[in-house]
Amino acid sequence: MVLGKIYNKALNLVPLDAEEGVALYTEAPLEELVFIADMLRQYHNPGKSVGWIIDRNVNITNICFSQCSFCNFCRKKGAPDAYNTGPGEYIQKIDELYSYGGDQLLLQGGMNPDLGLSFYTELFRRLKELYPSLKLHALGPPEIVYLAKKEKTTYYDILSKLIESGLDSFPGAGAEILSDRVRAIVSPVKATATEWIEAMRAAHQLNLPASATMMYGHIETVDERVDHLIKLRNLQSEKKNDHYGFITFIPWPFQDEGTILKNKHGIKSSYNSPDYIRIIAISRIILNNIRNIQASVLTVGKDTGMLSLHAGANDVGSIMIEENVVSAAGAEYRFTAEELQSLIKEAGFVPVRRNQKYEPV
Ligand code: SF4
Repeated sequence: MVLGKIYNKALNLVPLDAEEGVALYTEAPLEELVFIADMLRQYHNPGKSVGWIIDRNVNITNICFSQCSFCNFCRKKGAPDAYNTGPGEYIQKIDELYSYGGDQLLLQGGMNPDLGLSFYTELFRRLKELYPSLKLHALGPPEIVYLAKKEKTTYYDILSKLIESGLDSFPGAGAEILSDRVRAIVSPVKATATEWIEAMRAAHQLNLPASATMMYGHIETVDERVDHLIKLRNLQSEKKNDHYGFITFIPWPFQDEGTILKNKHGIKSSYNSPDYIRIIAISRIILNNIRNIQASVLTVGKDTGMLSLHAGANDVGSIMIEENVVSAAGAEYRFTAEELQSLIKEAGFVPVRRNQKYEPV
């Protein structure tokens, strides 16, 4: 393939097809990809601003029937260390969040078969009554698929009820790689690729600001990584112009510590820093209709995070006061608000604190 023609298409915001995306991934020199991606970053987000946020994660439960083979966080019901977070713990954790100056709560966790829609709607209502300014960034497509099956209703209906109860924005969790070949191996009882996309489509129809993600570096091929990005771009292209859709895309590598994939099947994370930079750049180039690309500094660390900002990323995410899912599988980086801002400055950019909708605060 002639790379120059692909670069020109990308710079003119013409959507690349799968063959072109794979050619970029496998053939393009990294410095050329970074150059093109940085130009596109300047198109979408001119200037030197890089976003960051103060929020905290609270895991609703670690009980999960899905038992994905890349997950070292989930527990079976009845396990000695299985838990459902209690009401008092939410209050203590939200008070701590406010004491750090944040008001965004990322609520995630396992899919506990004992918890139905009413549990989530009551939880959201109660939290919003106690903290009217709290912003809830909660659940994800797999939970919506699970709840719709459990309640025998549609994804749209489940999401509408969650929004009525206080859901403000929707993480694109559980996407991993949107390939049913991959999902049949790593997460066979979780939402299929089509179900994930349909649940996210319902979120877009409801104008719920959403993120898109990719957890890569396990058993997927380069073709499947590129196909994942194209599926996200195609879904984004369906949304109404005045709707949020995906406001960001966040790729992070598989964290293998203690996982079934590593311990039983010998599959280690294929992460390396140059490949992460390549993924950031390819994502910026293929996802020509998603404005923000976030570097996952929590999983790749400071140096790779800084390089990502020159390769298409314009956000470094959160100080994440508490994170238990990827850290259970080996993610080891932590950042204070000061450290995140100095990372951005050291890379040559200007830190801009933002909210969940990527608006400066
Ligand atoms: S990744 Fe999520 S859905 Fe899969 S087992 Fe872990 S908690 Fe459950």
